[in-house]
Amino acid sequence: MPAQPDAPPGAKPAQAVLSAPQKALRKLGLVRDIDLALHLPLRYEDETRIVRLSEAREGEVVQVEGAVTHSEVSFRPRRQLLVTLDDGSDTCTLRFFNFFPSQQKMLAVGARIRVRGEIRGGFMGRTMMHPAFHLAGGELPDALTPVYPTSAQLPQAYLRKAVASGLKRADLSETLPPDLLRGLEGVVRNAEGPLFTLRDALRYLHHPGPDVSMDALEDRSHPAWQRLKAEELLAQQLSQLTAKRERDALVAPTLLARPGGLHEQLLAVLPFALTAAQRRVGEEIARDLARPVPMHRLLQGDVGSGKTVVAALAAAIAIDSGWQCALMAPTEILAEQHFAKLIGWLEPLLAPLGKRVAWLTGSQKKKQRTEMLALIASGEAALVVGTHAVIQDQVQFRNLALAIIDEQHRFGVAQRLALRSKMGPGSQALPTEGRSGDAQRATDGGEPHLLMMTATPIPRTLAMSYYADLDVSTIDELPPGRTPIVTKVMSDHRRDEVIARIGAQVAEGRQVYWVCPLIEESEVLDLSNATQTHADLSAALPGVLVGLLHSRMAPAEKKAVMDLFKAGQMGLLVSTTVIEVGVDVPNASLMVIEHAERFGLSQLHQLRGRVGRGAAASACVLLYSPPEGGRLGETARERLKAMAETNDGFEIARRDLEIRGPGEFMGSRQSGAAMLRFADLATDGHLLDWARQAAAQMLTRHPEAAEKHTARWLGTKAEYLKA
Ligand code: ADP
Ligand code: MG
Repeated sequence: MPAQPDAPPGAKPAQAVLSAPQKALRKLGLVRDIDLALHLPLRYEDETRIVRLSEAREGEVVQVEGAVTHSEVSFRPRRQLLVTLDDGSDTCTLRFFNFFPSQQKMLAVGARIRVRGEIRGGFMGRTMMHPAFHLAGGELPDALTPVYPTSAQLPQAYLRKAVASGLKRADLSETLPPDLLRGLEGVVRNAEGPLFTLRDALRYLHHPGPDVSMDALEDRSHPAWQRLKAEELLAQQLSQLTAKRERDALVAPTLLARPGGLHEQLLAVLPFALTAAQRRVGEEIARDLARPVPMHRLLQGDVGSGKTVVAALAAAIAIDSGWQCALMAPTEILAEQHFAKLIGWLEPLLAPLGKRVAWLTGSQKKKQRTEMLALIASGEAALVVGTHAVIQDQVQFRNLALAIIDEQHRFGVAQRLALRSKMGPGSQALPTEGRSGDAQRATDGGEPHLLMMTATPIPRTLAMSYYADLDVSTIDELPPGRTPIVTKVMSDHRRDEVIARIGAQVAEGRQVYWVCPLIEESEVLDLSNATQTHADLSAALPGVLVGLLHSRMAPAEKKAVMDLFKAGQMGLLVSTTVIEVGVDVPNASLMVIEHAERFGLSQLHQLRGRVGRGAAASACVLLYSPPEGGRLGETARERLKAMAETNDGFEIARRDLEIRGPGEFMGSRQSGAAMLRFADLATDGHLLDWARQAAAQMLTRHPEAAEKHTARWLGTKAEYLKA
C-alpha cells in the first residue's frame, strides 16, 4: 500500500504544486491507483519483433534494425535529414523534417539503429517519415506496447509509467464471491481457459503477448475484456440497486383515491375517455402512491399520448388526501399550458374545497410571486405548476407529497434532487403509526413521491442498465381518432412549393408551424434568421397572420403570440425551437422544419409531435440544405430517413441510440460520469443479464464485498445515480 492511496504517482504532499503532467492526470480523472489500472490502451504497438526490410509490406508499421550507410541534410524541397538504413536484406530512406543536432549525430554513417515506423513506397524507394529510433541492440519486449488515450499535457511515456505503477499498486483482490464467479464462468463467451481474474484481465489488456488475436482485443470480445465489462456492469447494477433499496427504506405519505373523491370527479369532467394504456399506467401510479415508500417512477409515452391527464389524476389523489402536489416543466410555455389545462379541469373541483392552483415562473412580477408563495406556504395552493422557479429556496411547501417532472430529460440531477427535498420543514421520516394522508399531519416529513415524465422513450437495454433503479410505466397507445403524420424530406430548392402548401392549408382553416434551427449556437444569428424568415413568409403569404416566437422575447409577448395561435387567429407561427416540447394546438396540421439536418433525431420527433393532435390529416416537411456543392453527411441522412420511415417514438429512440450511442442519448442523467466505459449494451446483453442477477444476490448475501466492488469501480461517482 502506498502512503497516500489517493495521490497520483510521484505526487508530493497535498500542498505541493502539481507538475503539468500530474495536473493532466487529474483532469483525466486518473487519481487513484485503481483509476490508472482501469485506464486501458486505445491500441498497441508491436515492438516485440524485428522485421527484415525485404519482407516488410508497404503501409505496414514495422520495426527494423540496421546500419546507417548514408546521412545528409538536404534543402530541397525543404530542409530535411535523409538517412539510408541497410539491414542486409534491403535499404530504406528515413526522412526527418525536424531534428536536433544530437539526433543527427546518432544517425551518423556507421551507426547501428533500431527504427519503428510505417513503410511507404515511392519514387525514391522505401521511405519512413519521422520514424522512432534508438540505438540497436537491447532486449525486445515480450509484450505489445500499450498506447493510452491521453491529452496534450501528458506525454505517452509518462502516462505509461504512471499506469504501470498504478497497476502494480492497486488493490485488485477478488470481490466476487465463489457462487457469482461460477455464474460468470457460464456466461463469458469463448472462454477457452479458466475465467480471468480482474488482476489477470488488466495485466493482460495492458500488456498482451505478441501472439494475441488483435481482432478480439479491438472488438473487445476477448475473455479478458468480458471479465472487465462484467465487473463494470456489476458495479453499475449494484449502485442502482443500493440507491433503490435506500429509497425503499424511506417513508412517504400514503395517498389513497377515495370513492367519490377528487380523482373520480376529475375523471367525470374530462371531455374524453381514457385510453386503456392511460388507465393501466394510472393504476400503476395509484398503487405506488398508496404505499408508504416514495414512488420513483418514470412515465414514458410518445408525444401526444396523453401524459398530462395521467399526471393530473395522480395530483388529484394527492390533493384529495390533503397534500400538495408540484408540477415542474422545462419551459414557461409548457408550464403555462399545463396550468391552463389543469386549471380548466381541476379548479372548479378545488374551489368547493377552498383550494387553488398556484403558478410560479422566473418572469413573474414580484407582487404576484409573493402572493403565490404565501398560497404555497399556507397550503391553500393544492397544486403548484411552474418552471425551475418551483425549486427555488424561497418556495416553502406546507406539505408536498407528490412531485411531477415533465420532460424529465431536460432537467439535471441537481434539480431533481432539489424538488425531492421540498418536502417541507419537518422532513424527517414519519413514525410508522403516523403514516397517513391526514391533512392534520401536514408538517410531518418524509419524502415526496416522484413521477418523471418523458416523451423520449428509453430503449429496453438502457432501461435495464442506466435506469435499473426506476420503475417504468409506458403509454403505448395514442388516443383514438388521430391520423398518422405523413413526413416528407425535401430539398430547400422546393421552398416555394412548400410555401404554396402552407397557403392552401391556411385557406382550409388549418394552422402551420415553421421551425428555424439554431445557427452556430449563436442566439443573435439564430434570432436574425428567424426574423428574416418571418418577414419573407409574411410577404409570400399576404392575408395570413404570421407570428414569430423566439427565446429572446419577453414572456408576456410570447404568451400573446401563443394565445393568438391557440385561438386560431394566427395561421402560421414561425419559431425557433422554443416550441419543441409539449405545445398543444390540435388544429395545427402542418409542421415545416427548416435545416432539418441540423436537428437531432429525438428533437425532430418532438417537433413533429406538435401536429397530428387533432382529427385532420397532418404532415411534416423536413427541409434540408446540403452544404455548397456537397452532399448531406451520413448521420444527417440516416436521421432524416428514420424520420420519414417511422412515427413510432420507440423505434426512433432505438435508431437514435444506434446513431449516437448512449452518451448523448442519456443527457443529464449521466452528468455524474456514470457512463459505461467498457461495456457496450449492443453486444454485451449477456453480461448485463448476469450483472442484474448477480447484483441482487451480492447485495443480500455479501454486502461488504458489494460495497468494496462499487467503491473500486465508481469511487465517488455512485452518488449521482441516486437522483
Ligand atoms: P403528451 O403525452 O405529449 O404530454 P398531452 O398530455 O399533451 O400529450 O395530450 C395530447 C392531447 O391529447 C391533449 O390535447 C389531450 O387533452 C388529449 N388527450 C389525452 N388523452 C386523451 C384521450 N384518452 N382521448 C382523447 N384525447 C386525449
Ligand atoms: Mg407533454
